[in-house]
Amino acid sequence: MQKCRLNGEAVYAFKVMDENDVVNVEYEKMLRRASEQGELKCEDCGADIVFKFGDVKIPHFSHKNVLVGGGCSYSKESEEHIKGKKLLFDLMIKDYPDIKAEMRCRFSNGKWADLYFEFNDGQKLAIEFQRKLNSISYWEDKRKFYKSINVKDLWIASGKRDQFENILREYEFMFQHRLFLNDNSNKLLVLDVERKEFLIASKIIVSDKETNKIIMDKIFWRIYSLNDIKILPNGDIECEFDKEFKYEVDIFVQAYLEEKHRAEVKQELRRKEVEERNRKRIEEQQRRYNEEHERLSQFTDQAKNNYKKTNDFSKGGYGGKSYSWNGYKKKTNSSYSAYNRKNDDYYKDKVNKAILEYRYGMDNLVRILVNGGSTEYNTIKKMFEEKINKGDVRADRVFKEVMRLAGLD
Ligand SMILES: [Zn+2]
Repeated sequence: MQKCRLNGEAVYAFKVMDENDVVNVEYEKMLRRASEQGELKCEDCGADIVFKFGDVKIPHFSHKNVLVGGGCSYSKESEEHIKGKKLLFDLMIKDYPDIKAEMRCRFSNGKWADLYFEFNDGQKLAIEFQRKLNSISYWEDKRKFYKSINVKDLWIASGKRDQFENILREYEFMFQHRLFLNDNSNKLLVLDVERKEFLIASKIIVSDKETNKIIMDKIFWRIYSLNDIKILPNGDIECEFDKEFKYEVDIFVQAYLEEKHRAEVKQELRRKEVEERNRKRIEEQQRRYNEEHERLSQFTDQAKNNYKKTNDFSKGGYGGKSYSWNGYKKKTNSSYSAYNRKNDDYYKDKVNKAILEYRYGMDNLVRILVNGGSTEYNTIKKMFEEKINKGDVRADRVFKEVMRLAGLD
């Protein structure tokens, strides 16, 4: 162990030797004196503690009575845990030389903090260094406790960078890491004790603002030497990470937007192409239609003249009435009894040919309607209507046009 009590005050074995292995002989003498006189006490069980710095070239404490040590929880602290706490302790002292700092701080209710700091401006910070989180209720209890005594808490995981090399998504984390990540404003801090470096991991989630679709969901992490990191009194981390994180997101979003823009331009070009093709097709249809129309007008003018002639010749049969061209519906069947009526198949054929835009298809129908009576009109109309009712748009168009040309609209 690295810490015990001398007359109630905390003393640390690691203070005997600094990070450059330079020994503080005065501090060593003080600890050896206290150790010989039985003044060093275990913080956990209160038993006698001895200072050791001999065969093992690392200054440390241990229980005087080995059997007592076996039953004391402090003895069970792992080497890695002790080293990690020491690294964090030194890091804080380096950045804040004159603060109150305690390793393994015990609170009045019996709870322990791995590291506890009181800053000159009154801010308080507890740092927990955890290799493995055994219980979520332990973690929640502790957080609640820190909050109740107005102490900020920072949870740091112990780990190695190799653990993270293949992690791309949040679900691939071990639970403890996911927990820390989400509860520490999207930052997971991992201390690699051997390499003396910090790994900081964060979750990047980016969605397309227009579609709300998630376009990026990944874990981003970077490694920093301990010296490139500063832990702030409120538990925040000051280092290059935020900048690098933002850069990563910006680069991705920029590339995404460029790609999206390219796709939109391509789509717009395609749309214009289709539009142009459709325009040309409609123009061509219109041209053909106009030609046809022109031809039919000439034909119907002729038919009109013929009709007028017929009318003139048989004036007597109409009781002297003069029928306009558009008065077709008023004509009775008997007036056209001379007309050579055909069977339904004949009309069906003509209707189909008109709809299929056969050459003279519409001409023929118009001629039949002009020369026929209400039977022809009703038969043909019924045939068209059957098709129109089934949603045949072309039939609808041809029907209207035929009726118009025949003066029946
Ligand atoms: Zn003990």
